[in-house]
Amino acid sequence: SSFDQMGIKDDLLRGIYGYGFEKPSAIQQRAVLPIINGRDVIAQAQSGTGKTSMISLTVCQIVDTAVREVQALILSPTRELASQTERVMLAIGDFLNIQVHSCIGGKSIGEDIRRLEHGVHVVSGTPGRVCDMIKRRTLRTRAIKLLILDEADEMLSRGFKDQIYDVYRYLPPELQVDWLTERMRSNNFTVSAMHGDMPQQERD
Ligand code: AMP
Repeated sequence: SSFDQMGIKDDLLRGIYGYGFEKPSAIQQRAVLPIINGRDVIAQAQSGTGKTSMISLTVCQIVDTAVREVQALILSPTRELASQTERVMLAIGDFLNIQVHSCIGGKSIGEDIRRLEHGVHVVSGTPGRVCDMIKRRTLRTRAIKLLILDEADEMLSRGFKDQIYDVYRYLPPELQVDWLTERMRSNNFTVSAMHGDMPQQERD
């Protein structure tokens, strides 16, 4: 399987090849298309197998840069991971003019407000700061069509559960699917990306 056969937009393909990737890794082969096609996906893979890149390229594919609203939200357990995802997305999306903002604790709130009010397509952040921005109504959730919980079990073990659930309840109702609501309530979920009906499980 190749990136060419995935129905990825040309400017994104240029970015992927420009970044040095030649063909999709195993987890990318299994998870990219289902997510792009609107399935809910739970993807489990060892670190270093292309998960961050998989998240970055699916987000780049589904964002319509002509719409200046937040369309994808990625929550990560650490500031480093949230920033790393932002960096990979900006590199792969180099030809897309995609606006990505990392919304993380320890950085200036004023800068978050300025960026978000100016209009960004993607927010990659940690649960606490993202929750804060949503409650201030600085981060508008109405156009969000993809939620990614990166290292979801790690986030739960760090005690982010209430904040994640808080964020989740502000998302458009189409994203609040029963199976994920149940998993959140029972502390039983792993890395998930969602925007639709039932999850598809992908294991690398
Ligand atoms: P990730 O898990 O996305 O952080 O990827 C781990 C490492 O593998 C990083 O150095 C990526 O740049 C690299 N990588 C990810 N996907 C691919 C791919 N399809 N082809 C080559 N390298 C990749």
